[in-house]
Amino acid sequence: MVVILKNNPDEGQLQSLIHWLETKNVQVTQSLGESNHILGLIGDTSHLDMDLIGALDIVESVRRIQEPYKKANRKFHPDDTVIEVGNVTLGGDELVLIAGPGAVESEEQILQIAEVVKAAGAGILRGGAFIGRSSPYSFQGLGEEGLKALAKAGKSTGLPVISEIMQISQLDFFADIDIIQVGARNMKNFDLLKELGKSDKPVLLKRGLSATYEELLMSAEYVMSQGNEKVILCERGIRTFEDYTTNTFDISTIPVLKKLSHLPVVADPSHACGRAALVVPLAAASVAAGADGLMIEVHADPAHARSDAQQQIAPAAFAELAETVRTIRKTVKPE
Ligand code: PEP
Ligand code: MN
Repeated sequence: MVVILKNNPDEGQLQSLIHWLETKNVQVTQSLGESNHILGLIGDTSHLDMDLIGALDIVESVRRIQEPYKKANRKFHPDDTVIEVGNVTLGGDELVLIAGPGAVESEEQILQIAEVVKAAGAGILRGGAFIGRSSPYSFQGLGEEGLKALAKAGKSTGLPVISEIMQISQLDFFADIDIIQVGARNMKNFDLLKELGKSDKPVLLKRGLSATYEELLMSAEYVMSQGNEKVILCERGIRTFEDYTTNTFDISTIPVLKKLSHLPVVADPSHACGRAALVVPLAAASVAAGADGLMIEVHADPAHARSDAQQQIAPAAFAELAETVRTIRKTVKPE
């Protein structure tokens, strides 16, 4: 971090700033120019509040030269993080397909689709139980009952399960859920993130609708700062001016996050485009770009799905998708 001081800074204030920085375990170097007086801060500056320093009378501006996230940063953790869930690993050699319906609709429905996606090669079963819909009049999910049905389908097929949590008070219901999903709209629910940081369950963190890569990584940092380092990042499209698709799928996210961070990166083309016909090509592109996994909404009867019917693909399309992405993966990452 670099602190640029105003001309002729007050010596007393300067010394107290330097002293304060040193108490924060940061080494300070000074460079005195004709018109500029600059402090170079060396060490871990991730815990320093830039705005606080920038607001001081003697300070002109503050610039970070290092990313503010540390635990999620590949610079401090060069090796890929590999997260084991049941008998699959995310971030390692395998490409993991997370598949299932948008919402758990009944015990029979989730069990049936679990068997279908497993047969096609899915490694993890998804199903929303607490689902944040854009309209309060849309199906809101089966809640606790939905989670129980999902866990049961997971047990009977041997697939680990993932579902979205909306608020901290729901955490007790997730005892039998293997991965906790934080939805795009909750990416900045810092209290929720901190609480999940105290859990030992992997957390799949979706990128917010208007979040930058750094903001997504700072949200991952919130979870990791509390001790839970099992975070999976997920690109699910962002809001742009385009309205043909629900969101705009930002393919750059995948290689950028793989470069900036050691955490596994999953892509969710279903929510990114909101159109079943686009799911297979976007899934293919994600794997080509280096995604460690895909999250795909699959429904036995998409036309009658109780949530997001237009974006769920039928079992046959999922089987085609699985085959396509397996071939691409072999080219991108030969074994
Ligand atoms: C979901 O996965 O069902 C979901 C609601 O996703 P997102 O938070 O990305 O909209
Ligand atoms: Mn959904």
